[in-house]
Amino acid sequence: MEMDTIAAISTPMGEGAISIVRLSGENAIAIANRLFAGVGGKKLADVPSHTIHYGKIVDPDTGETVEEAMVSVMKAPKTFTREDVVEINCHGGLVVVNRVLQLVLNNGARLAEPGEFTKRAFLNGRIDLSQAEAVMDLIRAKTDKAMNVAIGQMEGRLSKLVKKLRQEILEVVAHIEVNIDYPEYDDVEEMTHRMLEEKAQYIKNEIEKLLRTAHQGKILREGLSTAIIGRPNVGKSSLLNSLVQENKAIVTDIPGTTRDVIEEYVNVRGVPLRLIDTAGIRETEDIVERIGVERSRKALKEADLILLVINSSEPLSPEDEALFEAVEGMDVIVILNKWDLPHQVEMESVRELAQGAKILTTSLVTEEGMEKLEDAIAAMYFEGQMETGDLTYVSNSRHIALLNQALEAIQDVQNGIQSNTPIDIIQIDLTRTWDLLGEIIGDTVQESLLNQLFSQFCLGK
Ligand code: GDP
Ligand code: ZN
Repeated sequence: MEMDTIAAISTPMGEGAISIVRLSGENAIAIANRLFAGVGGKKLADVPSHTIHYGKIVDPDTGETVEEAMVSVMKAPKTFTREDVVEINCHGGLVVVNRVLQLVLNNGARLAEPGEFTKRAFLNGRIDLSQAEAVMDLIRAKTDKAMNVAIGQMEGRLSKLVKKLRQEILEVVAHIEVNIDYPEYDDVEEMTHRMLEEKAQYIKNEIEKLLRTAHQGKILREGLSTAIIGRPNVGKSSLLNSLVQENKAIVTDIPGTTRDVIEEYVNVRGVPLRLIDTAGIRETEDIVERIGVERSRKALKEADLILLVINSSEPLSPEDEALFEAVEGMDVIVILNKWDLPHQVEMESVRELAQGAKILTTSLVTEEGMEKLEDAIAAMYFEGQMETGDLTYVSNSRHIALLNQALEAIQDVQNGIQSNTPIDIIQIDLTRTWDLLGEIIGDTVQESLLNQLFSQFCLGK
C-alpha cells in the first residue's frame, strides 16, 4: 500500500520538558535527514534501525539552527505503524516544537489527522483482527461517550444549568440593588448576610457538582491516562504488552533499555486506558536514558492511574520505596510481578507502603493475575455508571477553568459574609461569579475568544 508521510506533535501539549515530532511513512527518514545536522556530518539515512542520535535541526532554506534534538530512527517493519518512523525529541517550548513540525511539513510531510498513526498500524497489518476489534471498540466507546457529552452540551444541558444558576445570582444581585437604590421600598425586605450566605452556599454546591463531573468527562474524552512505572527490568514492558496483546515494546534482559515512552490505547472492560510505558524513574547520567526518565516524570504527573510494578523475586529496594512516595495520593494499583519465581519481597512492608492501595500478584510469563488486574481497573472506574444517560459531564477544559474561577469568586462572597463586609461590596464578587458563568455559555465572552473557539471547531475532530 502506498501511503504518504505523515507528521504530528505526538506528546501532549503543555509544560513538559520534552516534546516529540513524530514522522511515519516512506520518506520519514529522508525528510528528517534534510533537517538534521549530526555530529561529524552523520546522516540519518545511514544509521541502523532503532537508534537515537544527537544533532541540530537546521532550516535548510536559511541554514538557521532551530533546535538541538535527539532523533530516533526506527525502520519498517518493526515499528508501530510498520512504516519508517522518526521521532524528533525537542526540549524547547511549544514555539520551537511547532517550528520543527513546520519544517517537517515544509519538507514533504503532511500533518497527520487525529488517530492516523493508529489507523496506519491497522492498515499495515500491525494489529490483527481481534486486536483491531478491541481498539475499534475503544475508539467507538470513546467517541460514543464523548459524542453523548458533546451532544448533551449542544442540546444545552450544561448551558441550561448554568443559565439557571445565573438567574438565581441575578435575582440576588437585583435584590441588593433595589435595597441600595430604593431604600424607601418597604415591600422589598432587606437582604441580610444570613440570607446571602444561604444563597452563596447553594451556588457553591451547584458549581462543585458540575466540577465533580469534570474528571469523568476528561476520561471519556481522552482515555484514562495510565502510567506503568517501576524499576528497570521489573516487567513494565511485559505488562504493557500483555495488556495490549501485541509485542510493541522491545522486551529485553538489559536493565534500562526501555528508552521511549510508548503510548497504547486499550479497552479494559469498557474503561478506555491510555497506557504509558515509561523508563524506570531513577537518577541517571546517560543522556539518552534521561529523556526517558524526564518523560516518565511528566507522564507520572499527568496520570490518572498508576500501575506500580515491583519485582517480587527481589527484596524491596530504596528505589521501590521512592516510587511509592512519588505516587502518594494518586490512584495506584501495586503489582507484585514475577510471582512465578520464589518470593523475596516482604508483604508487610509492601502493605505499609501501599497505604490501602490495591495490591495484586502477577506473572507475566504465565499470565497469572491479569484477569484480576483487569477486574481491579474496571472496579475503580465507572463501575455501574458507564451509561452517560442523563448525567451532565463537563469535559471541556475551558469550561472547567471557568467553573474553578467561579468557585473562587463565590468563595470570596462567602469570605465577605464571614468578615461582615458591607453587602454592596460583596455584590462585586457575586457579579464576578455571574460573569464567569456567563463566559461558559458565551454571554459575556469577547469577540476574539469566540473566533478562537470557532476556528478550533473547524480544525478539530
Ligand atoms: P521493564 O524493564 O520493567 O520494562 O521489564 P521487561 O518487561 O523488559 O522485563 C524484563 C525481564 O523480565 C524480561 O526478560 C522479561 O521476560 C522478564 N519478566 C517479565 N515479567 C516476568 C514474570 O512475571 N516472571 C518472570 N520470571 N520473568 C518476567
Ligand atoms: Zn521496559
